[in-house]
Amino acid sequence: MSGVILSKKYGVNPSLSQCLICGKDVGVILFGAAWKGKDGFPGEAPRRCGPMDPEPCAECRKKYLEDGDGVLLAEAKMVERPHHNPSRRWNGEKESFPQITGECAVIKRAAFEEVFPSFPVPSRRIAFVEPGVLARILPNPETEGKEAKS
Ligand SMILES: [Zn+2]
Repeated sequence: MSGVILSKKYGVNPSLSQCLICGKDVGVILFGAAWKGKDGFPGEAPRRCGPMDPEPCAECRKKYLEDGDGVLLAEAKMVERPHHNPSRRWNGEKESFPQITGECAVIKRAAFEEVFPSFPVPSRRIAFVEPGVLARILPNPETEGKEAKS
């Protein structure tokens, strides 16, 4: 539990996080005083906080990334946050951090190599993509989704 600063009001302030791919509950995250509501002030974390980490659940990893030979594209935007290294954070240093948006797609390894020829397939089979990339490389669900599914 290192690093959790307890909330005076909500203690460890737990919330369930979900698998980015299938949406089922995968783990408990302890927010302590770190959860901020829409108003920007610390508060009580919701019971379910959505996917916080691109790592999918064990079943999805096996089904899509290992057996399916796929690569998970997790849409993320870069945000600034206080540096994870306490002494650098103390100096007011910040670091860029990919914050996932919840949008994702799994594409075959061969498709990944075709679409991103200058990037090696990531060892954990998870790649962050900027907002807008998924819409550019995936078929439009309105027009082509039905064919792609069969
Ligand atoms: Zn899953």
